[in-house]
Amino acid sequence: MAGRISRQFIDDLLARADIVDLIDGRVPLKKAGKNYQACCPFHNEKSPSFTVSQDKQFYHCFGCGEHGNAISFLMEFDRLDFVDAVEELASHCGIEVVREENNASPRQQRQQQLAYQQKQDDYELMNQVSRFYQQQLKTAVDKETAINYLKSRGLSGEIVKRFGIGYISDAWDGMMKVFSPKVKPISNSLN
Ligand SMILES: [Zn+2]
Repeated sequence: MAGRISRQFIDDLLARADIVDLIDGRVPLKKAGKNYQACCPFHNEKSPSFTVSQDKQFYHCFGCGEHGNAISFLMEFDRLDFVDAVEELASHCGIEVVREENNASPRQQRQQQLAYQQKQDDYELMNQVSRFYQQQLKTAVDKETAINYLKSRGLSGEIVKRFGIGYISDAWDGMMKVFSPKVKPISNSLN
């Protein structure tokens, strides 16, 4: 499993990256004294109040107040989450992201792997159950009850599909009959 990106790597990356070069590739900058300027990419304006400082490796907009470093610029401008912004900045600098080693013992790693697998299996089972409910909405003998109810709530077929809305007939073990090899019946779990 991939480890965390260390604070040290992020600090080194920021020290190596040049924010002027990075932003200039997306928003053409003009030199203005010590700093660089452009019309702000984060708000509408006719005269430039977006300033990039090469010394401080920061940007600041005097119009809308947006400010930050190379990573926050990528998060805002490219709409990336933090990790993706770090990856993007590293690739801009031609550096590969270093992740911390997984220090867990082989036994712990095996447990992590099992927990991960269990989670994947749970999601897969939930997906199957969800598909079963959705299919029941189309095929159950009493599906009209559900369809009429959904119509009365103003839900179109498109919305029902988009949100994966399903149905199950009024029988407590309808789903168990289909999924029982995988799902323990409730009575057993009470023992
Ligand atoms: Zn601005």
